[in-house]
Amino acid sequence: MAKVLKVGIVGAGISGLAAAKELAQYDPVVFEATDSIGGVWRHCSFRTTKLQTPRMDYEFSDFPWEDRSQSFPTHAEIVEYLHGYATHFDLWRHIRLNSKVVELRFLGGRDASSADLWGSGGKPLPGQPMWEVGVCTGQSATVEWYRFEFLVMCIGKYGDVPKMPSYPYKGGPDLDEEATKGLMRGKKVVIVGYKKSAIDMAVECAEANQGENGQPCTMVIRTLHWTVPHYSIWGLPFFLFFSTRSSQFLHERPNQGMMRSLVCRLASPLRSGMSRFIESYLKWKLPLEKYGLVPDHPFVEDYASCQMAILPETFFSEADEGRIKFRKSSKWWFWEKGVVLDDGTRLEADVVLLATGYDGKKKLARCCQSPSAACWRTPTASSLSTGEDSGGAPSSSSGTIHPLIPRMAFIGYIESVSNLHTSELRCKWLSRLLDGHFKLPSAERMFRQTAEETEIMKRTTRFYKRHCISTFSINHSDEMCEEMGWESWRKPSWFSEAFSPYGSQDYTEEAATGAEEQEEEEKMAAVN
Ligand SMILES: Cc1cc2nc3c(=O)[nH]c(=O)nc-3n(C[C@H](O)[C@H](O)[C@H](O)COP(=O)(O)OP(=O)(O)OC[C@H]3O[C@@H](n4cnc5c(N)ncnc54)[C@H](O)[C@@H]3O)c2cc1C
Repeated sequence: MAKVLKVGIVGAGISGLAAAKELAQYDPVVFEATDSIGGVWRHCSFRTTKLQTPRMDYEFSDFPWEDRSQSFPTHAEIVEYLHGYATHFDLWRHIRLNSKVVELRFLGGRDASSADLWGSGGKPLPGQPMWEVGVCTGQSATVEWYRFEFLVMCIGKYGDVPKMPSYPYKGGPDLDEEATKGLMRGKKVVIVGYKKSAIDMAVECAEANQGENGQPCTMVIRTLHWTVPHYSIWGLPFFLFFSTRSSQFLHERPNQGMMRSLVCRLASPLRSGMSRFIESYLKWKLPLEKYGLVPDHPFVEDYASCQMAILPETFFSEADEGRIKFRKSSKWWFWEKGVVLDDGTRLEADVVLLATGYDGKKKLARCCQSPSAACWRTPTASSLSTGEDSGGAPSSSSGTIHPLIPRMAFIGYIESVSNLHTSELRCKWLSRLLDGHFKLPSAERMFRQTAEETEIMKRTTRFYKRHCISTFSINHSDEMCEEMGWESWRKPSWFSEAFSPYGSQDYTEEAATGAEEQEEEEKMAAVN
């Protein structure tokens, strides 16, 4: 007999933890497949993996880091911070570790039409169970069933399901740090990919191959991306270019109206000028030309698709020592001694490491086997999702709700410069939605919004399939604030509103309550 509960949360990474804290009033149950909280920071990090976002931008609004310097914490420090968060807000009582959700079943029936999926009033908590959740605990194959009125999917876009040709799930050997070093030491290593994980791995490989018997590692690159050494460009802080209200004013955003569209068109030379300004610095600071690593697209396209990687300090010094080499190739395949590139070059390799990303869509589909939950595989729904790199999650209404998937929210699918901030704010929004502070727009409006966002992404970057809001994140937050009844302009002065960056600390409950109280006082004064 399934147990009936109000809210279920799947996953205990940063998104699941933020959801548990913000929805604590519903006494949620958090199912976490592994033996630890922390998600990618616990299970998808290398020895040297650090946060790329500065520490203070990757911080819960009500739980500051003890050390608030502009440094970059290691993955272990992030897990420790998350443990502190879970303890401080008494979240452990909600969390069930080693509990993998293996199946979801929608109880609303297969014939429910899109109009009544969310109920006529759009009431998210219908007062009856809507989802049945099958959970396997530990090594047991027995499926235990739970019933919930509402589900929050926080299973992450990265990790678990690698994008690999045709290898079995978790088919490779599980290696610890020493074993990984041993695997690369003295071996000819080929790394396929040129994003953050590939870059970090190349440095790991170079470190394991110091000394006489060391072998170089070769990165096989299909698409070049801009890499950044630190958050300062020609002496100016990086946030000035993209993270302030005035800088985001130059970029297109959804629901902007005719006038702003015109301003954005006129601002196009300014946007490309700013992009070229940043590129000029990167080409001066880094030996990109020497190694043939200058991308053929503007910097802003990488930024707008959340693909900018911060370089580990020693990356180019290792390349200068000959321990990291680069080869461009749009395709590659194996031969008996290694890999062949598209120009016919044969690279010898003892080890080939695929840093080719993860398949978020498959990951979602794996828990959603039942036919009733197949709605996000219908053409309409999949056209909502902005493509495979969006992680397969539906993107609508703040990237959290899909109009065709009832009583379910998705947190952690939209990306930005700080995914923690983006997830946390959506959890606050979701909490108010469930509390009944506001209603969802109509399904039609949600579809329109998503289509518009996709069009903007298409005009901004060739990598538009990634669901990234980094060039209009403040606008997204404004809309959520308005729906929640919060002030959307949250800085103390016009100057800081225009020129200081927006982060999680701007969205604390106190700030919101303060603004609401001020509004109340103003209303009272007007009445008197
Ligand atoms: C190497 C690396 C570096 C990164 N650097 C940055 C950065 O600098 N800045 C930034 O903003 N973002 C960065 N990110 C993105 C990062 O993914 C997010 O910041 C964030 O940690 C995602 O958290 P999440 O909770 O949404 O997902 P995850 O961390 O992936 O957590 C999902 C959780 O769900 C669990 N789960 C999955 N399936 C099931 C199931 N069926 N049943 C139960 N539990 C399940 C998983 O075990 C996991 O614990 C980085 C990612 C990686 C991989």
